[in-house]
Amino acid sequence: DQTLLKVEDLEVTFALRAGDYQAVKGVSFQLDRGGRLGLVGESGAGKSITGFSIINLISPPGRISGGRVLFEGRDLSKLSPEAMRSIRGDRVAMIFQDPMMTLNPVLTVGQQMVETIRAHRSISQAEAEALAVAKLAKVHIPSPERRLRQYPHEFSGGMRQRIVIAISLLADPALIIADEPSTALDVTIQAEIMELLLELCESERMGLILISHDLGVVSQVSQRMAIMYAGHIVEMGPTEAIVRAPRHPYTQGLLAALPGLQSRRGRLNQIPGVMPGLTNIPPGCPFHPRCQSAKDVCRTELPALISRRDHAVACHLTREEAQA
Ligand code: SF4
Ligand code: MG
Repeated sequence: DQTLLKVEDLEVTFALRAGDYQAVKGVSFQLDRGGRLGLVGESGAGKSITGFSIINLISPPGRISGGRVLFEGRDLSKLSPEAMRSIRGDRVAMIFQDPMMTLNPVLTVGQQMVETIRAHRSISQAEAEALAVAKLAKVHIPSPERRLRQYPHEFSGGMRQRIVIAISLLADPALIIADEPSTALDVTIQAEIMELLLELCESERMGLILISHDLGVVSQVSQRMAIMYAGHIVEMGPTEAIVRAPRHPYTQGLLAALPGLQSRRGRLNQIPGVMPGLTNIPPGCPFHPRCQSAKDVCRTELPALISRRDHAVACHLTREEAQA
């Protein structure tokens, strides 16, 4: 089976004092083995919550309140906490914006890599060290034997993120979920980390879910993108199609705001307004207060995500176009 991951109608609810609020609703997508999907949207769109849901890492007051996640054919919601932990450690790896969330500052890189390896496999210290060196080489860290003896603070931010990626490779995962992995880094280093992820997905046939607010960064790596807004997927399709001809007004706004397009459009267009908070998502299309094309129906009716030739859009406007 080519399908690695299938998320079906995912819903995540937060029980807050003021009531229950859906942070993610009706989110469905799938990923083939070795496939690369980008989840894009501003902060608060529900991208990270979607990513965490895949590995069942939603903690109270949040909970997965609907839908299911099938990974390698198994329904993850039906697994015991122990089985889930082993999937998290072996089959799915997670990379965060801050490498120090993963790295222990008081251990050398080699110590933590060897510890991680030996927690999963019974191999000798020497074999574990050899494996650690091999993985550091794979993420292009120069002189890995020497670097193994150093502490995280002796590395630059970009090198630390490479080490985190090397650690995530130790168990040969089938899927990496990377949440803003390059956001804290400068642009050149960002591009290098993206290139590395792309290279590893291809050489190891690893699936990638790349979560970022930066549509430009995601488009460098992902084959498909899902654009999220206020807990919903508003547009999804092949990266190339979305970048060339975005159909949702929000996606169009994100693209217009990319620095690379400045020359073409004359200026940097920011989408006016802000993403609504969890407790004040407006009725109808959640984007309507910021949308220049909003009509009456947009204020009352949530547009369904409708797919046409593998390119799905949730907007009343494009639906009319499709019918015309
Ligand atoms: Fe704008 Fe209406 Fe489309 Fe929402 S449904 S994006 S408000 S036109
Ligand atoms: Mg986030």
